[in-house]
Amino acid sequence: MKVLVVNCGSSSVKYTLFKMDNEKKIAWGIVECIGLPEAYYKRQSVGAEEKEESVKVRNHTEAVELIIKDLMNKETGSIQSIDEIAVVGHRIVHGGDKFSKSVLVTEEVKEGLKECFSIAPLHNPHHYAGILAVEKMLPGIPSVLVFDTAFHQTIADYAYMYALPYEYYEKAGIRKYGFHGTSHNYVSHRAALMLGKPAEELKMITCHLGNGSSIAAIENGKVVDTSMGFTPLQGVVMGTRCGDIDPAIIPYLINRDKNFADPEALNVLLNKKSGLLGISGLSGDMRTIVKAVSAGNKKAKLAFEMLCYSVKKYISAYFGILNGIDCIVFTAGIGENSPSVREKVCANLQALGIEMDISKNNEPSSEERFVSKDESKVKIMVIPTNEELMIARESKMVLANG
Ligand code: ADP
Repeated sequence: MKVLVVNCGSSSVKYTLFKMDNEKKIAWGIVECIGLPEAYYKRQSVGAEEKEESVKVRNHTEAVELIIKDLMNKETGSIQSIDEIAVVGHRIVHGGDKFSKSVLVTEEVKEGLKECFSIAPLHNPHHYAGILAVEKMLPGIPSVLVFDTAFHQTIADYAYMYALPYEYYEKAGIRKYGFHGTSHNYVSHRAALMLGKPAEELKMITCHLGNGSSIAAIENGKVVDTSMGFTPLQGVVMGTRCGDIDPAIIPYLINRDKNFADPEALNVLLNKKSGLLGISGLSGDMRTIVKAVSAGNKKAKLAFEMLCYSVKKYISAYFGILNGIDCIVFTAGIGENSPSVREKVCANLQALGIEMDISKNNEPSSEERFVSKDESKVKIMVIPTNEELMIARESKMVLANG
């Protein structure tokens, strides 16, 4: 059985084709810069070299068409007919509070997704375009939607509500939703396997630290709280996003600078120009920041310390919320690859039973592993995330359940 996972962004379509009997990737790639003259298609399949070429694609439908034709290429393709694809899994950023689990696409589901456009205008319309493109190019093949928000739907109302007048929740859907749910879900299950206990008997804090970052407190397999909010802007310091700030800064900026009368200018400031980039003035990329810290750059050091401090603060808060934890998991680009971030985040948390083994932490590896001391009460783990595989599994499961 083969499952195609697609992730449609504003100007890109990313895909992975899985063979589900061994859960291995067969082919994967991305069409980027859709609608622009510099559009290109980069792809790879098992046993073949990575290829990249310029392409002309005006929209998501043309991008999906290009991908399907390539997958079915007589000489280099991975499938002979579209019927080999049992189901298509779509990554969907925002399911609002309409979708608490993955669903098979129907007309009603598509309408429901459209109703979530207003709370995720940067993502959901593109996902919707992708769903239509797949329907057109793969007629008769079922599609499943897997939501980044769904895993967080177990959060209690007192944790997801903002203390604004209640009608803002009722009329505008303003509440915490949380993101990266597929990743938190995946790594929490891997962690349970590594600890040899069911997820339903464990308390853990999962740290997805990438360009966008979020922390989740998970008790007995259910999310109790997470750091991202109504949008992915809330929470820890990120590559170019500010994370938590005093909301009164917004009206203050609007009063002080008339450019900020335009909400888009504020969105750009908070989402694209802040975080590591805003503080360091150098980059939102942690690799550049780490190098600059080594070279003695003071602002890079400040940015690095702010990010680590904000993660540590969430871990400490969630430790209290969960009344103790069995493990902390680090995942995503920074979480998997930056020993210095992990070390700084876990430093001086012995009072909570969190003790890192520095030499294990520094050992380069791309495998899932423990980086805590043997005697550490709380286990510290590094687990590479695999959102695509999680989407493929969910899609297979939803298909099996009809
Ligand atoms: P996205 O949120 O876009 O999926 P990723 O999970 O790929 O992002 O994470 C990207 C981040 O991971 C970048 O800040 C990048 O610098 C960081 N990163 C990747 N490799 C390393 C490394 N070896 N050391 C430090 N940071 C790294």
